[in-house]
Amino acid sequence: GDASIDIDVLVIGAGPGGYVAAIRAAQLGKSVLIVEKQHWGGVCLNVGCIPSKALISAAHRYEEMSHSADMGVSAENVKLDFQKVIEWKNSIVKKQTGGVSMLLKGNKVQMFEGEAMFINENEARVFNEQEAPRYRFKNCIIATGSRPIELKPFPYGGRIISSTEALSLPELPKSMVVIGGGYIGIELGQTFAKYGTKVTILEGGETILPGFEKEMSQLVARNLQKSGVEIVTGALAQSSSQTENDVTVTYKVGDTEHSITADYLLVTVGRRPNTDGELGLDLINIKMTDRGLIEVDNQGRTSIPHIFAIGDIVPGPALAHKASYEAKVAAEAIAGLPSVVDYKAIPAVVFSDPEIAGVGLSETEAKAQGIEVVTGKFPYAANGRANSLNATQGFVKLVAEKGTNTLLGAQVVGPEASNLIAELALALEMGANLEDIALTIHAHPTLGEMVMDAAEGALGHPIHTL
Ligand code: FAD
Repeated sequence: GDASIDIDVLVIGAGPGGYVAAIRAAQLGKSVLIVEKQHWGGVCLNVGCIPSKALISAAHRYEEMSHSADMGVSAENVKLDFQKVIEWKNSIVKKQTGGVSMLLKGNKVQMFEGEAMFINENEARVFNEQEAPRYRFKNCIIATGSRPIELKPFPYGGRIISSTEALSLPELPKSMVVIGGGYIGIELGQTFAKYGTKVTILEGGETILPGFEKEMSQLVARNLQKSGVEIVTGALAQSSSQTENDVTVTYKVGDTEHSITADYLLVTVGRRPNTDGELGLDLINIKMTDRGLIEVDNQGRTSIPHIFAIGDIVPGPALAHKASYEAKVAAEAIAGLPSVVDYKAIPAVVFSDPEIAGVGLSETEAKAQGIEVVTGKFPYAANGRANSLNATQGFVKLVAEKGTNTLLGAQVVGPEASNLIAELALALEMGANLEDIALTIHAHPTLGEMVMDAAEGALGHPIHTL
């Protein structure tokens, strides 16, 4: 055969895990090759975080333009050009993914467009239609991400779509059924509802957005219902049939069978790690969990000590920022630095309306661990900036350990929750207590003051609530 090319670090996959790992490894003096088979920036930049947020913000804009009369602003003939929205979304994706390529090049990372496949523990073949060179690596970081789970009764194709197709529909659907009330189903379902699609959400459990406290998910559920979305909980989707123009889904609630016909059926029931197939992990006998995730230690090291794994293919929440965090730790570990992961402060955000965000422990979780807590909750309705933004729905809640007042976690539901959670993640990461937060001077008038006010409340001497 052919001779191998030597490289320090081979990175497989260029999502928020892989591209960040490649950049950090290169910054630490390693020669790095990154291989990407489909799209630079991975799921997140191409068919995940970025395009979904673009569609969400255009939907918000559309809704606000049509519904700001109570602020004294009204517009006539607000028009939606859905194809233009999709084009604009595509331009945002292009800008972001172009940025990733530029950063990789700028850090002298070698890039290969094609697929990677292990030959043995020290070598991999990378190939596309033109070439198939073979590389010998000192270290490898696997960051191959995940793909939508497909359910047997609802095979993707035609009118049955995953989140990927939902982000690039050729025209605005008149109606859509969503199976799965997790964050992806809710974000996309609510967005289409804002554009005017009649949306029905079928959720098997008893609430949408399980994993978040009921008092938060209920606010979202109420808003969904206000915009005409039908939420069916306890719904077990059973079968489907499609024609060229629509799809019919049958589902059961208890013993009663129902059926519903819509333009599209969007299935968002979770994601499967890309650890099967051509990659050849079976050839190198890497240890996996029974869910197909790769087992790693606190540096991202697999059962083969010079091979690392990060992102959606390892246990933990499947989130872009978790992938990037693990990426930096793995690259630093390869360079011999003492970096280890600490998952205490991973924020989780749902970009619903209102937004939901959490970091660390909720009150329920803390109590379940037997921790005595103090909590402070501050409503948007009592914050000056929130009122001047006409955004009075929601609250900030802090959970701290009784006695020490050390912050254990925080939850925010309401406009800009996604941004407000950043300060709370920093507070948690730095081991702040309620006094630290209450004594931090927050600019007035800002939504951030709610964080300070919630801390004052937890300490028992609130200024802006009774
Ligand atoms: P990925 O981004 O999946 O990247 C893996 C890459 O590896 C892919 O590009 C793939 O083509 C490539 N690859 C796979 N196998 C091979 C191979 N053998 N050879 C070469 N290349 C290969 N997360 C958030 O934090 N915030 C959000 O708002 C958010 N919104 C989302 C919305 C949607 C609709 C979806 C679907 C996901 C969203 N996520 C969000 C999740 C986020 O996209 C993932 O957690 C993140 O992309 C995981 O990063 P990763 O690097 O592990 O893998």
